[in-house]
Amino acid sequence: MTTMQTSRPTKPATTAGGRAFNFGAGPSVLPEEVIKQIQQDIWNYAGAGMGILELSHRGKHYDQIVADVDCDLREIGSIPANYKILFMTGGATGQNWLVPANLLPIGGTGDYIVTGYWAEGSVKDAQQYCQGANPTASIHVAANSADQKHSYIPSDEQTKYSAKPAYVHMTSSNTIYGTQWRGRLPNAPAGAPLICDASSDIFSEPIDITKFGVLYGGAQKNLGTTGATFVIIRDDLIEMGHKHIPRMTQYRTYAKDESRPNTPPHFAIYTVGLMAKWIKKQGGLAKLGQINRDKAGVIYKALDDNQGFWLSHAREADRSLMNITFRAKGGDALDEKFMTEAKAASCDGLKGHRATGGMRASLYNAFPAEGADVLADLIRDFAQKNG
Ligand SMILES: *Cc1c(COP(=O)(O)O)cnc(C)c1O
Repeated sequence: MTTMQTSRPTKPATTAGGRAFNFGAGPSVLPEEVIKQIQQDIWNYAGAGMGILELSHRGKHYDQIVADVDCDLREIGSIPANYKILFMTGGATGQNWLVPANLLPIGGTGDYIVTGYWAEGSVKDAQQYCQGANPTASIHVAANSADQKHSYIPSDEQTKYSAKPAYVHMTSSNTIYGTQWRGRLPNAPAGAPLICDASSDIFSEPIDITKFGVLYGGAQKNLGTTGATFVIIRDDLIEMGHKHIPRMTQYRTYAKDESRPNTPPHFAIYTVGLMAKWIKKQGGLAKLGQINRDKAGVIYKALDDNQGFWLSHAREADRSLMNITFRAKGGDALDEKFMTEAKAASCDGLKGHRATGGMRASLYNAFPAEGADVLADLIRDFAQKNG
């Protein structure tokens, strides 16, 4: 972490060791105790005489890491025995084509609910995959919130499914626009499994895995660092997956071989393991969900208390707990000024995506509650001083 330029501190830096409050959307903040563990393990992993980065992915230390991460994630997410937890590479973006490559039958239709930037990418890649490799298949956009700049989650009435979708694809939290499916899910036609890009909110609160056929995402937001893509998938979907595609693109390859058919991103998977143990230590998802609701709550309250000054992008009922998007009503110059002052107060990574402008505060699992309090104070103070 580079040292902060704190020439004009508005508040004493409350972070430890020169570290900023990292509101970045991903890669994102890790818990301090996880980082300290990694520091040790990079030098000498559990007395192995070599560091985690250097350990064989076939040795007994890595065997234990694989067993633990599976067991701990199952426990945290109450993941039933008929689901596998796979680790792949290529990120959530790679799943854009791996999902149809595995799960879209010849001549079948995949339905997509488009709620933001990443969902648009999922449609594009699925279409492109079909054109090249499964030309009788089709991609159907069942709903699209682009008409209002993806500021809301479509209702059941606004969603028109195809006659017989092979699956329904959704994005649980829209990292760039700051909306999230809260307390409801798409009412997919019977027999169509829900496939969810859960990159931005996996294991941020209790979840009923049985409502989904597949949940996937990059680990670098809520579950660790870059390099590992988690895929939580029901056994029957692994089974029905196409067999005519290369081995490294088939889910069954990873299911059969503990996600190590070749050299896996073992450092990233090890980090997921540390995050899983950390989540357990926090008291599991019920407790973590409460903490995450509180963190988002203080910031939304600061914005709502100053509605004359700040504009929240997401419709209130669909606000994400993970990514808060907002901007000053007075224009871009105020946004810039706010971010400069926030940075001086150790709040970094607030710049919004170029699709939305303004600010985005990402509050993933490891983001500390004090950081949310500091930002909420800044939001209030800034509105009072500049309003
Ligand atoms: C970050 C993100 C992605 C992209 O993930 P990669 O792992 O970088 O491919 C996709 N979808 C959502 C919802 C995201 O938040």
